[in-house]
Amino acid sequence: MAKQRIVVFGGTFDPVHEGHMQMARGALSALDPDLLLVMPSGSPPYKKCDASPEDRWRMVVCACAGNPRLVPSRLEIDRSGSVYTVDTLLELKKEYPDARLFFVVGADALLKAAGWHRIRDALSLCTLAVLPRPGVDRAALAAAAEQLASMGGKVKFLPAEPVSVSSTEIRAALSGGAVPDGLNAAVREYCACKGLYGAPVRVPQAAGWIDSLFVSLKPRRFAHSLSVADESRRLALLHGVDSLKAEQAGILHDCAKCLPLSELQRLAREHGLVRDPSFADSGALLHAPVGARVARDRYGMADPEVLEAIALHTTGAPGMSRLAMCVCLADSIESLRDPYPGLERVRALAEQSLEQALLLSLERTADYVLSRGNRLDPQTRETIAWLRERDAVLPRVSP
Ligand code: ATP
Repeated sequence: MAKQRIVVFGGTFDPVHEGHMQMARGALSALDPDLLLVMPSGSPPYKKCDASPEDRWRMVVCACAGNPRLVPSRLEIDRSGSVYTVDTLLELKKEYPDARLFFVVGADALLKAAGWHRIRDALSLCTLAVLPRPGVDRAALAAAAEQLASMGGKVKFLPAEPVSVSSTEIRAALSGGAVPDGLNAAVREYCACKGLYGAPVRVPQAAGWIDSLFVSLKPRRFAHSLSVADESRRLALLHGVDSLKAEQAGILHDCAKCLPLSELQRLAREHGLVRDPSFADSGALLHAPVGARVARDRYGMADPEVLEAIALHTTGAPGMSRLAMCVCLADSIESLRDPYPGLERVRALAEQSLEQALLLSLERTADYVLSRGNRLDPQTRETIAWLRERDAVLPRVSP
């Protein structure tokens, strides 16, 4: 039987960026491992981090959330004292004695590998899998690989399209108040919520909210919430809506999503939110109006417009505000969303008209629900009818 293949991708990830994710994807396609562990270092002996281990961990969780083959690992974060690669490899060898281990590094890191703590031991435990990084001198790289080979190391160069981005550049951009390229939307929003790296804080309560949301939501839902906040804010700025409220509603919109159905039903009854029996059976529908109550009672959100946007983010409602439209639309087009038929068309329309993009998005939802033989919620039907009426009076746009 073929040996199990385990890839370790370690780094400070301060913060994790698209270059790292491109590397991880490159390692997946070149090595086809059984397990790829993305492992932020706890207290790296060689580098001082700006963000806390817990913040770097959560950003890695967000970055990996869309890909089930990328598994965030706390192995180094949870170890106290200085953490060396060789110790990590030894621990993994203990846990997976028969596996073949690969340790992924960028080309720049390979240049320094000969100086790692107990490098000979580390090399005896793994193959170094090297991914290209722009700006690294080829001759220096070949010399480093040769030196490691002379120490008994196995070095494998993997093909991948290098991405020209570094955490250093991203930290510098954030501290200057800029919006850096190369971050996934959830990580970008995480930095803004926590004011990491000197990023200006727009929503003062957000740091506490996301601490609670990280505990109460599943990783993918957490990343989605942050990405919706980022997109709601963008849409609000584009369409002349209050961007602070859009961001607040985006962060909190799914705060009740991971409650058990029985708890959603209990809260819905307590607050008189049950419209009809099939509504009361659906967590997918209940979590929005219940979420508005949870946002008010547990997260201290008092603004009625923000609460309305949370309550209506799934079905919409005739007469809904443009703020609520931003959140409802952002929920369906945020950048981490799995593709669905028509997504790109909705995204293109969203650049021009909130109403027309939301109409198309809700029509797609209705088609999907009906094609699966399910009952369409009457409020969605009414929202579609209301938006169609508005569509007739608004100027048409063509994406
Ligand atoms: P910093 O700018 O803080 O030094 P970094 O962007 O190099 O950080 P690290 O977390 O230190 O990020 O890197 C972890 C691993 O990812 C290292 O092996 C590094 O070589 C590699 N790496 C980082 N950025 C890229 C990139 N754009 N392309 C390829 N490899 C990268």
